[in-house]
Amino acid sequence: MTTTLSPIDEIIAGVPTGLMIGGAVRPASDGSEFDVLDPATGRALARIASGTVEDALAAVDAAEAVAASWAATPPRRRSVILTKAFELMTEAADDLARLIVAENGKIFADARGEVVYAAEFLRWYAEEAVRIPGAIQTAPAGSNRILVTHHPVGIAVLVTPWNFPAAMATRKIGPALAAGCTVILKPASETPLTALAIAKIFERAGVPAGVVNVLPSKRSGAVVEAMVNDDRVRKLSFTGSTEVGVTLMQLAAKTVVNTSMELGGNAPFIVFDDADLDEAIAGAMIAKMRNGGEACTAANRFYVQEGVAAEFGRRLAARMSALVVGAGADSDSQLGPVINSGARDDIHALVRGAIDEGASILTGGETPSGEGYFYPATVLADVPATASILNHEIFGPVAPIVTFRTEEDAVRLANGTPFGLVSYVYTTDLARGLRVSEQLESGMVGLNRGIVSDPAAPFGGMKQSGIGREGGAEGLLEYLESQYIAVSW
Ligand code: NAD
Repeated sequence: MTTTLSPIDEIIAGVPTGLMIGGAVRPASDGSEFDVLDPATGRALARIASGTVEDALAAVDAAEAVAASWAATPPRRRSVILTKAFELMTEAADDLARLIVAENGKIFADARGEVVYAAEFLRWYAEEAVRIPGAIQTAPAGSNRILVTHHPVGIAVLVTPWNFPAAMATRKIGPALAAGCTVILKPASETPLTALAIAKIFERAGVPAGVVNVLPSKRSGAVVEAMVNDDRVRKLSFTGSTEVGVTLMQLAAKTVVNTSMELGGNAPFIVFDDADLDEAIAGAMIAKMRNGGEACTAANRFYVQEGVAAEFGRRLAARMSALVVGAGADSDSQLGPVINSGARDDIHALVRGAIDEGASILTGGETPSGEGYFYPATVLADVPATASILNHEIFGPVAPIVTFRTEEDAVRLANGTPFGLVSYVYTTDLARGLRVSEQLESGMVGLNRGIVSDPAAPFGGMKQSGIGREGGAEGLLEYLESQYIAVSW
């Protein structure tokens, strides 16, 4: 009897389910596997090999075997391969987006947008690969020349989260390959299929075996520790929570491994009385609801000046309550499920806590029954500035609104957390917009704009939101070591 596969099953059937090491797909050394779940139903989509410490070291062997030849590959050749990967990823965008929807839960439009964004990192770094900077200058004493060159930092371990399974991978792999590094990607165990599908794209684009290795594993701590403790690994690039980032910085300290840390956010979204409210509401919907609120850049705290706070709340609640909640694969859906039941419970606990502390619900706030991990778009008004929800990354479709009086209050409240990834400011007074932006302790500011992510710009945080930048010219430098040669004259 032949069975007909559904379109998504057909896509999944084309994705390797093993570890991708040295150009081969293999099972875990101890045969272990784990399930990948569909957040819209809670059901298993696939079983994936769960890498062991032995596998992790085999991946380092594979990355080492080709490290010198990849570093010596002419930048133009690396650029051509990255361009090809960009083209193949663009061609495969619909299928990749369906895969992201299946394992992450986000709506198709968000997944499709993510793939376009992810592919752009490959194009941008294809263009940067042939522009690796250098310098020559005269020493102040006149005795010699100072020659500065850049070299690939070496084997890089890349650890990525589940919320942008394609973009967080290419934002690291693009610059790493452009710089001449070989890599081992450890994707989040919630979303390994996208990473494995992308690795196949690199293979088809002509990336030599061993340059990009993928190690899915349920034993993240053990496998990452084994690789970072290996002297051959010289770079650890991590995107994820601040809590895990702190652990990994301590780990990297042992062998003085170069680290880049893209960590948690807690973005303030400031609306002044003089803002264009249509623009502010449109920006709020993007900053809050892109990816269903599961973004490190998600607006987490809305600070609205007293003259427009009530109207802003009303209008935001009207837009949020109109969103159609449903499985990401359903073309009508505008808000998909969150990643798992634990995440949903955490979000609901923050909402209940805010209500206990005095907030009122304008819309949402109830966990629906039925299958899947859905949570409604929720707006909370009159949130006290001290409410605990404002000190947590909500990572879900919840918008708490706090009212403020003066510009100084807005800046103080916005800067009042240990995080500093991104801030949003809405005002029609450009001087005020720039003055406030410069006072905000965040690596990025959206000024009258609800989205900042751009492969051409340096993405990253201040304070406990991280160290280092991804994207732009800065993103390439994270994978390069500077060397200076003093030349006698
Ligand atoms: P997470 O920190 O739980 O996991 C991230 C990755 O680290 C996953 O691959 C996970 O398997 C791995 N990991 C977990 N524990 C580990 C350990 N002890 N040792 C080594 N690896 C370990 O984060 P998440 O829940 O997957 O993602 C959400 C978080 O990521 C949020 O805090 C969000 O703000 C952050 N994030 C930041 C950015 C950014 O650019 N700053 C982008 C996206 C997400």
